[in-house]
Amino acid sequence: MLPQVSKLINHFPKEPAFLVSALAKQLLNELRTEKNIADEQTIKQLLAKKINEYKNKQFHTLINATGVVLHTNLGRALSSKKDALKLAKLLSENINLEFNVNDNSRGKRDELIIFYLKTLFNAQDALVVNNNAAAVFLILNTLAKDKAVLTSCGELVEIGGGFRISEVMKQSGANLITVGTTNKTKLKDYEERLNEASMILKTHKSNFFMQGFCEEVDVLSLNKLAKDNEKIFYYDLGSGYVDKIHPILQDEMSVKNLIKNEVSLLSFSADKLFASTQAGIILGEKKLIEQLRNSHLLRMFRLSKASLILLELSLKSYLEKDYKNLVSLQLILDDKNEVLTKAKELLSLINIGEIIELKSLVGAGSTPNKLLPSYGIKIPCSKDKYYKLLELKVVSNWQKDCVILDLRSVLKEQIKKIARIINIVFKG
Ligand SMILES: *Cc1c(COP(=O)(O)O)cnc(C)c1O
Repeated sequence: MLPQVSKLINHFPKEPAFLVSALAKQLLNELRTEKNIADEQTIKQLLAKKINEYKNKQFHTLINATGVVLHTNLGRALSSKKDALKLAKLLSENINLEFNVNDNSRGKRDELIIFYLKTLFNAQDALVVNNNAAAVFLILNTLAKDKAVLTSCGELVEIGGGFRISEVMKQSGANLITVGTTNKTKLKDYEERLNEASMILKTHKSNFFMQGFCEEVDVLSLNKLAKDNEKIFYYDLGSGYVDKIHPILQDEMSVKNLIKNEVSLLSFSADKLFASTQAGIILGEKKLIEQLRNSHLLRMFRLSKASLILLELSLKSYLEKDYKNLVSLQLILDDKNEVLTKAKELLSLINIGEIIELKSLVGAGSTPNKLLPSYGIKIPCSKDKYYKLLELKVVSNWQKDCVILDLRSVLKEQIKKIARIINIVFKG
């Protein structure tokens, strides 16, 4: 006889009844189908495990000691405490989302953001959508539906989450013409097929890089080729950054630079190197962006209220050069000595393991071939301890019977907390 649900609910008086009831029903069903006649004690243990798993699925904070600052699985870019508080306040009261108090008229939800973007980048026009994937789709569907788009074979990328350029192109109604080969694409490859196409698309390779016998055509040459032939040029940058700010980024063109060089149309994610919230930012020529703005898709791709608020705050930080407020950007820009200081502080609080030099990835498909110098703590231990750290919400790396905590992606104010957790795990 399996126990009754009500009995199980009584056994977990501290847990929400809805949860225990739902999970108990699920568990009892599973046991029935398996014809498993577990005893009551075992059932209670199994249920406790399910409850715990459920709790771990609720959104919660954790410490990112992987070294990957823009970790897609861990929420990419962080907002500052200041911005998060402002967001909380604005979410808990009514706001002027689409309302203009200046003349009691209906307002546009993205008006100020567009103004900020145009000012920051000196762009003719701008548009924001839900994410960069939506930007790619919107652009292809609006400007290239039933038309041909030239793309290099070497740039038919799949970024995370199964987003393949070739599939997106098909869905958008644009016809893909690939030019060049996997490793080499030359300007003449584009020139040869240009008269069949209405757009040239360049896609940033994002999460991989090619080395050896390879060649691609740079953005500005493609932009010029398209313009000279009255075609549209669109650059999907993936992870754009505002300006030349860091040595590791120096061989990638900044967004400001691309706009200065009159690239017709580009888009990038707001929560990658730009270090804001989830959004897709589109910049470029007024006549192209006007067309995008008139697409019905825009209503479906519009940003949530929370994202608009955070994006507005980040843009203001950029315009005021308050880079400290862009937390993830700061973590990426931190000098390696600042990372070392964090490692030393942590070591002094735990007194186990040793400081080692590391190389961290920026993450989110930004600059996969460039690593940031970093420091971490290496603690030899069993894999159990690594999982115990995870249970206590510290995500680290496991390598050759050691836990490696990379401090590049850890916030200064998290050091004491991470030390407490390590002391619990390693000293019992
Ligand atoms: C990351 C990326 C995207 C998708 O951006 P999201 O903001 O995650 O939707 C599209 N294209 C490229 C090249 C990317 O790197």
